[in-house]
Amino acid sequence: MPLPAPPVWQAFLQPLPAAAASPSLYVDVLRLDRVDPGLSGNKWLKLQGWWQQFQDGHYQSLLSFGGAHSNHLHALAHLAARAQVPARLLVRGYASAPLTPTLQDCLALGAQLEFLDRSQWARRYDLSWQQMLAAQHQALVIPEGGAGEPGLQGCRALAELAAGYDQVWLAVGSGTTALGLAQGLAALDSRTLLVGVNAVADQGERRRQWQQQMPAAVSWQLIDDAHGGGFARCSVQLLALIQRYDALGLPLEPVYTAKLVQALEQRSALLAGQRLLLVHSGGLQGRRGYPGLGRATSA
Ligand SMILES: *Cc1c(COP(=O)(O)O)cnc(C)c1O
Repeated sequence: MPLPAPPVWQAFLQPLPAAAASPSLYVDVLRLDRVDPGLSGNKWLKLQGWWQQFQDGHYQSLLSFGGAHSNHLHALAHLAARAQVPARLLVRGYASAPLTPTLQDCLALGAQLEFLDRSQWARRYDLSWQQMLAAQHQALVIPEGGAGEPGLQGCRALAELAAGYDQVWLAVGSGTTALGLAQGLAALDSRTLLVGVNAVADQGERRRQWQQQMPAAVSWQLIDDAHGGGFARCSVQLLALIQRYDALGLPLEPVYTAKLVQALEQRSALLAGQRLLLVHSGGLQGRRGYPGLGRATSA
């Protein structure tokens, strides 16, 4: 079993350090970053369905796309190494650039890196190109970030835990994790409010997608003003927040989880009396790419 087994959720819950929350606010943090040292966070959840697909088919290798700091590629390289399956990672950028710590790990795990220039990268959703790559490498081609129907599957299980809270908060990139969670909540007939904090400045794209795709029975909100000007920007304020939470024993990273906690802090006065679940979606390996932030341990 190369993927960590489904956990007993309770073992990964921790109260949000008191400094953050107003006294009448009750927040549990789900530390998905602690599931496994290599294969953790929401990328572990999203890979479950893809791994099932791999096992059910006649594939010889795994192939996917991502940026040079990608948590998805990092998790996929771990999965492939444990399963002893070749992994081909198509990375946005140029081979001449110095390797990021993320890509160094992937290489050390035995993954093959191939670099895509701007125009090749633009084709990553092109189905005919994906089919050609699949045939060429006898590969299961997984979209960037582990998105797609198989990616949703493992995320539905989060609803079992989330249904016990008034609200569940999580950071949003592609929105796959939130959509899977929402499908799980709908299946349970849950009244839990889903609050997504968008990490991407996307001009309303995610909101439009959710208006189409979110199950009608689920109440949701998308916070669209917490991206801090762009995906990988780390402002002085965000850096200070991360350092404050490091000292409190809750490691965060700049792209997703720190923005999530910042958005929650800003709204905590409005949330009095509510019981919240905050999903720590992992990604701490990516901290190494930022000056001033070392690798955080998930202890
Ligand atoms: C990928 C990632 C997300 C975004 O997940 P989506 O399913 O794409 O919305 C959130 N947090 C972390 C730490 C991630 O690595």
